[in-house]
Amino acid sequence: MPDRRTRTDQVSDAIARLTGRRTLRCPAPGCTFRIRYRAVTPDEARRLAALAHDHTHHGTKK
Ligand SMILES: [Zn+2]
Repeated sequence: MPDRRTRTDQVSDAIARLTGRRTLRCPAPGCTFRIRYRAVTPDEARRLAALAHDHTHHGTKK
C-alpha cells in the first residue's frame, strides 16, 4: 500500500487542487478537527486558519 489514505481521499485531494479547495487541520496531536473551504476571500481564509489552529475552540476529548 502506498500510504494509508483511501482512494476517495486521494481523489478529493486532486479535486481540491483543481478547484482551489483547501483543508485546514488542527495541529494538536490526536485532534481530527478540520475546516474545508473554497473560494473565500483572503481575510476569510486567514480567519478560518486562525480558527483551525486555535485548539481551545475545538473542545475535543483528550
Ligand atoms: Zn484541535
